[in-house]
Amino acid sequence: MSFQPPRRVLMGPGPSDVSDRVLSALARPTIGHLDPVFVSFMDELKEHLRFAFATKNELTFPVSGPGTAGMETCIMNLVEPEDEVVVAVNGVFGGRLCEMIERVGGKAVRVNDAWGKPVDPQKIQDALTQHPGVRLVAFVHGETSTGARSDVETLVKIAHTHGALALVDCVTTLGGSPLEMDAWDIDAAYSGSQKCLSAPPGLSPITFGSRAIKKIESRKHPVPSWFLDLRLVMAYWGGGAKRTYHHTAPINALYGVHEALLILKEEGREQAWQRHQRHHEALAAGLDGLGLSLFVEKNARLPQLNAVSVPAGVDESDVRRRLLEEHGIEVGAAYGELAGRVWRVGLMGHSARSENVVYFLDSLGNVLGKASEAASAAARKVLS
Ligand code: PLP
Repeated sequence: MSFQPPRRVLMGPGPSDVSDRVLSALARPTIGHLDPVFVSFMDELKEHLRFAFATKNELTFPVSGPGTAGMETCIMNLVEPEDEVVVAVNGVFGGRLCEMIERVGGKAVRVNDAWGKPVDPQKIQDALTQHPGVRLVAFVHGETSTGARSDVETLVKIAHTHGALALVDCVTTLGGSPLEMDAWDIDAAYSGSQKCLSAPPGLSPITFGSRAIKKIESRKHPVPSWFLDLRLVMAYWGGGAKRTYHHTAPINALYGVHEALLILKEEGREQAWQRHQRHHEALAAGLDGLGLSLFVEKNARLPQLNAVSVPAGVDESDVRRRLLEEHGIEVGAAYGELAGRVWRVGLMGHSARSENVVYFLDSLGNVLGKASEAASAAARKVLS
């Protein structure tokens, strides 16, 4: 029998709801990855990605693999054995960056902040002063594990003042929060298809500026992964390249991300950011109406990932189970330091819609045994 998944309302940390428009793009005929029609489609897709990142970077394309593959591409190509890298760690993904750096023989200088807090620029500044040999600073724009957003522009400036490049994880923020690759002078960034772009998981847009490319060109050691070696991948994805075979591209998945980027272009970058913010504010107003609060301080909250504190005496996992089984809503558990303490409620991409906010508030009220009319009304007021 064919597999028939249920229709869910995806309000967790990703994947987000995929629109029917993107789902139907995925079902278009598969053609060859070297077909001339596909090759010109690749150029268009790269241009749409540049729009999303707000960049003119030629080296901008989707890595065939999830966000972690984009992360690993950046680390593999930008870090060499013995390189010291300052990494901001304020949740799971900063920690993952450190592990990758160490696996390629680099030395991660961890700069820790409490989970739920943004990266403290002063600590990064201090670490760079103490480690003058550092030539790369890596940090996460939106920590999906906690719901905290960090100040990319400030952190990039600090890195550059100390002669280091800035690598930014934009997996959760691309398409959902203000992000200006060129205006903020970011050197390299990676993202994911399944969060605010609302395409299925499995592709990782990356973009590299000229200083990052120079670093790759001056490497003393070969990139330790064949698949992720950018100099080899670019024979397929590079501008003006002959588009020779590197690996068989995930053709239909690329149709999906192309359609999702077209939707972002039609809506507008700023408009998409504002939509995420508006729905976040509506959700916050509704949660307040249910007597619940958000874990992250107001000025560091990610609109697309809301960490909701679990009230005392409430069984966190039972609430998630009932939301899924009785209402078809997926929200995320937390892990690490926040395990059992928060629910992670996503409003990413196509999931950031008013009907989702209201349905979630009504469903949560039902599961918690609380009247939700006032909460929904508060959310509707913000949305109107
Ligand atoms: N970085 C951040 C901030 C993420 O939220 C995620 C996934 O949730 C990743 C990296 C890894 O992406 P993926 O799960 O697609 O490999």
